[in-house]
Amino acid sequence: MKKYLKVSLTLLVSIFIISLLALNNHSVQDRILNIGLKNILSNAEPFLDKEDTLKVVICGSRSPLPSPGRAESCVLVEAGDDIYIFDLGNGSVNNLTQYQLPWPNVKAVLITHMHSDHMADLPDAHLQSWIQGRTAPLKVYGPEGINLVTKGFELAYSADYQYRSDHHGSDMLPMSIVGFDATQIIDNQLIPNDTPGLEILPFVVDHYPVNSAFGFKISYKGRTVVISGDTIDDGSVEKYSKDVDLLVHSAISIDIVERMRGLAPLPQMDKILLDIQDYHTSIKEAGEIARDASVKHLLIYHSIPTPRNTLMERVFFRPIEDVFENYSLSDDGTRVIMPVDNDEIIIDQIE
Ligand SMILES: [Zn+2]
Ligand SMILES: [Zn+2]
Repeated sequence: MKKYLKVSLTLLVSIFIISLLALNNHSVQDRILNIGLKNILSNAEPFLDKEDTLKVVICGSRSPLPSPGRAESCVLVEAGDDIYIFDLGNGSVNNLTQYQLPWPNVKAVLITHMHSDHMADLPDAHLQSWIQGRTAPLKVYGPEGINLVTKGFELAYSADYQYRSDHHGSDMLPMSIVGFDATQIIDNQLIPNDTPGLEILPFVVDHYPVNSAFGFKISYKGRTVVISGDTIDDGSVEKYSKDVDLLVHSAISIDIVERMRGLAPLPQMDKILLDIQDYHTSIKEAGEIARDASVKHLLIYHSIPTPRNTLMERVFFRPIEDVFENYSLSDDGTRVIMPVDNDEIIIDQIE
């Protein structure tokens, strides 16, 4: 027995040493690198599969409070072959690039409200879509004043546009389509779109002093999603979420934020942690909304603060333990698939 053990151990050590030596060999390195690059650049898996589905991908799951490895607010909705993106917080376009988002399929970007954690990546979205052959300025919907935001970005990036067009050539990056095509969202007025079977309905939520802020109800061939945006529990999300398949809701843990206040090293931090409590929905309220509206699944995003480990996640969700059962915390890359021909809700993760 001892002898076998010794032989196996010698074999394992030999394999380990040979692997290490092989990894130092240039032709082995080249072959492994080429396989890796092919995998990275091969066709995107997470989007545009053959099945007709309503799909939601969380492309940014955190609030402005830092949480390593997560981007700020971003929710992608795919209906058939068309894609709509709700908010583009900091880091979200990096995620979308990693997920190999096919930008030509993105029909519009919709901004729930004009806080920076919901729109900081608009310039990067402009660049990525331009590179991938966008044929018109990037379509953006947002609250009143969204045109000033896009005009500001256009001004700030005017040199960048010119440099890139000069360098790569106007055939690839034409100056004629730089910039944004901004349209103001009107409460309760459907967002015009050419996707068969799709309805996008904005509704005003209360995120005072933000004026104005919207949530969205998206319906596609019988499947439904509501995105809350940032709001207090003013009844609007519940009203539009009656019996929906998926409610994507922002939430604050008053318990954890209060604990953080006690530990805040700066008085400014303590003030911010107090102020943010009065214009967000608590996790308990989010659970009650989901319960009272009879939603099938509650997916929490823009969590304040975003739990960093299982223990923190348990404490975060403590207030809804007895309120609502079918909930989960989203991560960047959390994907929800809702086929149109049955009532399944499949939740997985894009790596
Ligand atoms: Zn926010
Ligand atoms: Zn906000």
